[in-house]
Amino acid sequence: MPSRLVIPPCEHNPAHPNHLPSDEKPLRIQMLGINSLIDQLFEDGIHMPSQDRPIVSPVDFDEVGIRFAKLAFKQLYRRDVDPNNTSDFVPRYQYHIYQGKHGECQPWEHTIEGYGITFDHYVPEDDDDPETLMMNVCDPSDSQSASYYSLDLGLYKTNPATVLLVPRCCQVRKGTTDRKGINDQVREAKKAN
Ligand SMILES: [Zn+2]
Repeated sequence: MPSRLVIPPCEHNPAHPNHLPSDEKPLRIQMLGINSLIDQLFEDGIHMPSQDRPIVSPVDFDEVGIRFAKLAFKQLYRRDVDPNNTSDFVPRYQYHIYQGKHGECQPWEHTIEGYGITFDHYVPEDDDDPETLMMNVCDPSDSQSASYYSLDLGLYKTNPATVLLVPRCCQVRKGTTDRKGINDQVREAKKAN
């Protein structure tokens, strides 16, 4: 049985305006997670890009990566992507993280094979500095995760397993450079094409 992807409620009161964002608001969203966790979301045994199946370029979007992004979209906006609205969901940038080599990994490093994807929601084509939302994939059962999130992860240790997607406002890291970092990546990717 695949794991469920869940965006937990915001721990702030009132909730941070991007947790969850209103559907009308133009927003650039990046998600990043460890492959072994994201892979659990798919029941058909498909996998995220990896060293064995690397991504070709930042804008040649991986099919599984797009599926992951659309799962997150549904959690964010409580609906599917509208295929008739070309600015509803516009993938902009993807990247693959690989640290450590096969067979010579440190105990923690061997799990760090990850994938990130950025998409736009109603961002005007000529806006190269839109507001951004960073979200990270989190395993609530992983004790190392607790130090990165300000949520009570114990609430989400469920069966079937839950994989959390946590917006920056509920993370320990403040993400003051998120907007610049995410928009720089998209700008570079656009330039290269
Ligand atoms: Zn929050």
